[in-house]
Formats: sequence, structure tokens, C-alpha cells
Amino acid sequence: MADEKPSNIDTLAVHAGRMSREHFGVVNTPVYRASTILYPDLATLESRDVPYTYGLHGTPTSCSFEEAVTELEGGARTKVVPSGLAAITFAILAVCRAGDHLLMVDSCYGPSRTFCDKMLARLGIETTYYDPGLGGEIASLFRANTRAVFCESPGSLTFEVQDVPAIARVTHGHGASVLIDNTWATPLLFQPLAHGVDLSIQAVTKYVGGHADLMMGYVTANESHARRLVDTHDQLGLYASGDDCFLALRGLRTMPVRLKRHEETALKLARWLKARPEVARVLHPALEDDPGHALWKRDFKGSCGLFGVVFNPLPKGGLAAFFDGLTQFGIGYSWGGYESLIVPARITRTTKKFAAEVPVIRIHAGLENADDLLADLAAGFERIARCT
Ligand SMILES: *Cc1c(COP(=O)(O)O)cnc(C)c1O
Repeated sequence: MADEKPSNIDTLAVHAGRMSREHFGVVNTPVYRASTILYPDLATLESRDVPYTYGLHGTPTSCSFEEAVTELEGGARTKVVPSGLAAITFAILAVCRAGDHLLMVDSCYGPSRTFCDKMLARLGIETTYYDPGLGGEIASLFRANTRAVFCESPGSLTFEVQDVPAIARVTHGHGASVLIDNTWATPLLFQPLAHGVDLSIQAVTKYVGGHADLMMGYVTANESHARRLVDTHDQLGLYASGDDCFLALRGLRTMPVRLKRHEETALKLARWLKARPEVARVLHPALEDDPGHALWKRDFKGSCGLFGVVFNPLPKGGLAAFFDGLTQFGIGYSWGGYESLIVPARITRTTKKFAAEVPVIRIHAGLENADDLLADLAAGFERIARCT
């Protein structure tokens, strides 16, 4: 293995964080399960001059994954946590304190909103939701105590693309931090730190895991935020097991090829759905007429398997008829696994209403053959027609 850093990120995904030479040449870093780590003598214990000090603070398995991710993100430090939501709350707690003000994008992942409204309110941190369409105009929402701006692009359920570089310029001008939930794009399709973000958040549960059998998250910090990331992680006692880090590393190696296939299939489904009379709009930034397309094209290297569909008004019982006979799409939460999924979208907004009174659904295109998925959806539309 060459020591030179490869310039293509899919090659990096194969090589990053491997430590075969320290493990008898074994390709993958094995699962280490540890609480106690033994020191050879008192002087070493007191100096802590060893790579691993205590299970909670890292093992070769968790460090392999963290190092791999740090390279992919182009960051300074990464810390793993037990879920994507834990990564969101951990990142916010790493920068905000009592009396601070947080700007949170209105199209955020629902549980992020709940954390702001309940936990942050309890801790004396005030949240203002901002329209995902704001770029540099976000300046007008800043207060003297605004500590951070939280982005998620494209937004959960509605898929608005944000002008992250413009937001980052304004935020840094105010001495505040930029955080992003980058789960949709992963570092393969959007590089947060290169676009001015300070803390990049990922639900590993989704595409990194990729097989619907793992709950995990991570946060990667740039140089200026690395210290508080590590300190906050230590203070909160956060952790991810060796078994989970092993699965995450295993998923990471194949993520570039999986994502390509998810992208192709999702685009095929999206274009087909867009032409259906039952469909009012498809929410997918890679479609040329999507409102977020220009920003997406400027900043992203591709799209994933997740998008939204706005129906036209359906007959009574139409949505249930559509969902309940599906044979290829599973009805269930989460996404990013090899299997296709479908859920109705429940959209909550503070700044302005999302312009759709009709059912909105979220589709995750899995790794099945796209024609089988199309046939499943087509049969669903036939069931809707029989409802009238
Ligand atoms: C699923 C999801 C999360 C949370 O991940 P969990 O591991 O399920 O906690 C965070 N952000 C986005 C955008 C998600 O879709």
C-alpha cells in the first residue's frame, strides 16, 4: 500500500484507516472489545504515553474507523457515537452553552427539532428556525449571542438544497460555527469541510452501514473545532462498540459502488414517477427542474437513493391501497440499506408552510433491479385507480 494519499475518494475509501501491518497482515482491523487496557508499569500509566488508555476512549477498531472517516472528510478529528441522532446532539453540545442562540434549518430531521425544542430550551439555549432557501440573507437573523448555524442539505423529507458556502461566510464573519447533517450526501457526494463547515455530522446507520443492521453516528471536526469535539465526547461518555465500528468500516469500503447504484435507480424511479398523472411533484435535486438543482450541481458530486414524491389529491383510501400491496418496497423508517423503502412524510414547519396539502411520501431506492421496482409502483397506481 502506497503512503501517498490517493486523489480519488473511492480509492481512499478502500485504503483509509487500515492498519494491516499491526495485525499480522490481516486486511481488516479486527473487533476489539475492551474496557480495561493494561499498562506495563506505573511510569507509563502516569505519562499515558500509549496509543490506547481505556475502552471508552478508543480501541484499534474504533480508531481505524475514525481515521478512515477523518481522511474521507478531509478533517482533523472524528469521534464515533451510538446513533445519528447522538451525533447531532453531541455536535450541538460541543459548541453551544447556556445563553446561546442557535439557528436551525427549518427542513431539519424531525428529532433534531425535538432536541432543540425540548433539551436545548431546558439548557437555556434558544433556537430560531430559518428557511432553507436563505443563503447570505441569513445575516439578518444573527444576534449578538448566535453561536452556531445548523444546516442539513438536502433537507429531510422535502429535499431543499442550501447555499452552505454563503451561510458559512456569514457565520464565520460573526465568529460562530457551522454544523451540517450530511447524511444524505455522505462525504462522497458533498464535502462539508471544504465548503466552510466546522462540524460534519453523519448517521452511519444509513449509507455507511448500508445493510439495515447497524445504529451509529460520527462527527468530524476541522482543526479549529477538534479540541472541543474530543473534550465534549469525553465529558458525555459517548462510545460505539468494536463490533459496530467493524461493521461501519466494512460498509465504508463498498459505499462508493453502492451509492452509484442507489443513485442510478433513484433517478430512474424519479423520472418515471414525475411523468405519472397521480404525481404533482418529485422532490429530487438532481432533476433539472428542481428548485435546488443549480446549487446541487455546483456543490455536489452526485445524488443518493432518497427522494420525495408529492401526490395529486388521491381518492379516499388511495394511499393505503398504494402502500399495502407493495411487494418490493418495505414500509419502514430509516434508509441507506440495500433494500427499497417507502414511508409517508409528516412535514413540520415553523418559517412557512410546505406547499402541499396532499400526501407526500419518501422513497429509498435500494439495490434491487430498477424494473422490478417500477413494476411494483405501477401496480400500486393501479390499486389507487380501483379506489374510485
Ligand atoms: C436517520 C437520520 C438521522 C439519525 O440517524 P439514527 O442513527 O437513526 O439516529 C439523522 N439525520 C438524518 C438526515 C437522518 O435521515
